[in-house]
Amino acid sequence: MPLGCSLRRCRRCGCGPDERHGERHGAPRNLDAVSVAPAPTVTLDNRFARELSELALPWQAEAAPDPRLLALNETLAKELGLDAASLRTDDGLRLLVGNLVPEGATPVAQAYAGHQFGGFNPRLGDGRALLLGEIVDVHDRLRDLHLKGSGRTPFARGGDGRAVVGPMLREYVVSEAMHALGVPTTRSLAVVATGRPVARETLLPGAVLARVASSHLRVGSFQLVAATGDVDLLRRLADHAIGRHHPGLAQAEHPYLALFEAVVAAQAALVAQWMLVGFVHGVMNTDNMTISGETIDYGPCAFMEAFDPASVFSSIDTGGRYAYGNQPVVAEWNLARLAEAMLPLLDEDEERAVEIAVESLGAFRPLYSAAWSAGMRAKLGLPDGLDEGVAAPLVDELLTLLRASHVDHTSFYRALGGAARGDAEPARGLFVDLPAFDAWVERWRALGPDADAMDRVNPLYIPRNHLVEEALAAATDGETGPLERLLDAVTAPYDERPGLERYAAPAPVDFGAYQTFCGT
Ligand code: AMP
Ligand code: MG
Repeated sequence: MPLGCSLRRCRRCGCGPDERHGERHGAPRNLDAVSVAPAPTVTLDNRFARELSELALPWQAEAAPDPRLLALNETLAKELGLDAASLRTDDGLRLLVGNLVPEGATPVAQAYAGHQFGGFNPRLGDGRALLLGEIVDVHDRLRDLHLKGSGRTPFARGGDGRAVVGPMLREYVVSEAMHALGVPTTRSLAVVATGRPVARETLLPGAVLARVASSHLRVGSFQLVAATGDVDLLRRLADHAIGRHHPGLAQAEHPYLALFEAVVAAQAALVAQWMLVGFVHGVMNTDNMTISGETIDYGPCAFMEAFDPASVFSSIDTGGRYAYGNQPVVAEWNLARLAEAMLPLLDEDEERAVEIAVESLGAFRPLYSAAWSAGMRAKLGLPDGLDEGVAAPLVDELLTLLRASHVDHTSFYRALGGAARGDAEPARGLFVDLPAFDAWVERWRALGPDADAMDRVNPLYIPRNHLVEEALAAATDGETGPLERLLDAVTAPYDERPGLERYAAPAPVDFGAYQTFCGT
């Protein structure tokens, strides 16, 4: 059951221009669409545009003929100091699609490069997105307010600059679910239907996603600057990244090395969390890997159901490069690309810079392993201090059993909580090799697992693929009820609630093998 956005070859993946992206536009700049009006409730900084003007192309959103709000994240709006009621007004919707630019804001398309499926593309950038500016939230943190689907920019290459309701709501629901699961991620503030049909394989309703992030700096941002050979700009980019994410590092003995090490640590922790919740990003290109350590770009992502390291959902990932089990290795590979880009900042002597980078990147594996092992011990309700010599083989053997019996990654751990309380039958029923499972449970129980602690870290409700598809199909037809119910379940993933049983169950067999398409 594919998504409605099925581009066979798409820009996300770095393929050449595709006729299916729709008509090309000769003169994209659409100044008529914008009315500059004072919006006293929203104050946007333009720090990125100011500090890194070489990477910021001032641009404006195309006009949305008939904006209609499909989803608004009131909790996030409050956190940003925005008034939800005013966002629902006509002017609020115009703000959320980029047609009303607050006084003083400088919307820009950001330039970046990236390795896409291993091949370097020196010029990517926001082809259909804009950074509206930065907003100081109620916790005094600077957050990017960004639009996706806001029209063509000079980085659009063959793309139409637009986005479709289904995939934008998909990003909304999956990113908010990830946040509720405690996984660092960009957030979704709103999805607004534009009122314009967008040409994909069929005509589909267009939408703009308003996304919030601690920044949109990517590994690809550094790669772009490194490729220009402009070391001064590279230094300013690194200074900007330090200022945004690790201001304390400015005082470090070697701030740029400290920045690199901080990104390595953040990504090791992030990917471990993906692995623990069974998340498959699907398109871990270096332009989709943040410096902040937040998950970004929910395109062909999916949650694995039956545990299998080879799980791949993306229609174009035929080689399994971004399979579930490959994600840690790919993250490390991407960080090696970041290290290469940062070499001129690590040492003047290139050979020495390479030595430093290799040594620092060496931290990735132990950091990842420690985060994964601690997470698995928590999922199994085992004490923190448990000897790795006991915990590691227990985990490895469990994974072998889960894989052999195609056990659902999410519901298993909740069922296992029941086993910790004395009723092993529901968990047992998931396995084919019962003697092997029984033997494993006996060893595990002997360690005294804490069932309540397990329930606090093992989610009941994740955005299961069949439920996401069902909700998006309904929303595309104008019925947002299923989406709201799904959001309600996945944004409180650990609290068991009667009536939500279907949100805790794997897809019915007739749903078949799930395939995702690049989110367009
Ligand atoms: P993504 O992974 O969605 O960020 O996409 C990868 C690259 O393709 C980025 O440079 C995007 O801005 C660009 N892109 C994706 N879809 C479109 C589109 N419909 N129109 C223009 N650019 C696009
Ligand atoms: Mg991207």
